[in-house]
Amino acid sequence: MGKVRGMLRRLLAAPRGTDPILRGIRHGSRAFCGPEELYIDLTNRCTLRCISCWHRSPLLRPDEVLPHWDGAHELPFERVRALIDEAASMGVRKIIYSGGGDPLLHRDIVRILEHTSARGLEVLLMTNLTAATGEMVRRIAGGMLSQLCVNLWAGSPAVYAATHPGATEETFAKVVDLMRLFAGARHAPAEPELIIAYVISALNYEDIGNAVRLAAEIGVNNIWWQTTDVESANLRGLLLTGEQIQAVVRTMEETRKEHAPVLGEHQGNIVIFDDVLSKLRNSRAAEGIYHSDVIDTIPCYIGWAACRVLANGNVVPCCKADRNPLGNIFEERFSRIWFSRRYDGFRERALRLPKSDRYFARIACARICDNWCLNTSIHRRYAGYLNDPAARRGPGRRAG
Ligand code: SF4
Repeated sequence: MGKVRGMLRRLLAAPRGTDPILRGIRHGSRAFCGPEELYIDLTNRCTLRCISCWHRSPLLRPDEVLPHWDGAHELPFERVRALIDEAASMGVRKIIYSGGGDPLLHRDIVRILEHTSARGLEVLLMTNLTAATGEMVRRIAGGMLSQLCVNLWAGSPAVYAATHPGATEETFAKVVDLMRLFAGARHAPAEPELIIAYVISALNYEDIGNAVRLAAEIGVNNIWWQTTDVESANLRGLLLTGEQIQAVVRTMEETRKEHAPVLGEHQGNIVIFDDVLSKLRNSRAAEGIYHSDVIDTIPCYIGWAACRVLANGNVVPCCKADRNPLGNIFEERFSRIWFSRRYDGFRERALRLPKSDRYFARIACARICDNWCLNTSIHRRYAGYLNDPAARRGPGRRAG
């Protein structure tokens, strides 16, 4: 942490600027504008029971599922509309509809998307697409979204059925058809952007090449490769062994060599594996721990960069902090929570403390930080104030 403390000293001594995020980081705990990105879990209902889902995996015992993931939780339209209006007035740039369940199962999803884009906010919709119809897909392709991310943990029907228990090979065919429809209905090849989220586990690591071929053929612009995040011992069988990790690394290197030269200008990102490879190269990756080597090499800026509202109204400071609510939007306005002293306390600790501190025990940052890319991009943005060439390159591995 000595190096991080040095970075912070330089940052705090930087000249006062007008950028409200930098102003907040310099202050050390207060915020002077809203988060850049706001995650909103519209509903906890879902059509699938994905194999490594924290709350719907059939491998979990019922008593392992925490109450805030209960399928009955849903944010009503009026509450969502007020939240969007408040977010827009606080300077939020992007809304991410994701979370506890599938946003397309919210009965007012189209009204919500329309209202969000009418307020000038960028919209990322994360869905498994199984509840969509062709008409809905054509509508959302026509200007309500900036990005559509489809959870598809397979490149072939049999692997899809294995990783999404309850779904069939026909479900896979339906989802792929809807993605094709979306890709063709857009007004430009990457507007909105079409993305696949692929969570790699022992069940699907051999299907990575198929997923890349499928994505290239459909017109997908990016694949967000993720590692399986295991909280429960019952899910540990999904983790990659050391040998499987080596096989994935080789597959990714070969796949990049094969596809990168022939992919079009809007599709190159489907073979960018840097983020997932850095997790798989973590010294404890085979234990399901992906960020222990790097988590304390930069401060955590998430208290200024992003925030998440769960379907039960809880406001939590990052994607992994569902057990650390800082308020609830059914009890007070989002802005009061965001600018509260309690939230200031989170910001200060996240910025200054090592993530081994017991304050972060229930977040388990070293296991995996789902906001690592955002955090590193904020770090790079302010590297000039850190006067540190290493900071400009981004985080590195600790020596020794
Ligand atoms: S997991 Fe930890 S390091 Fe990552 S954003 Fe959350 S609090 Fe910050």
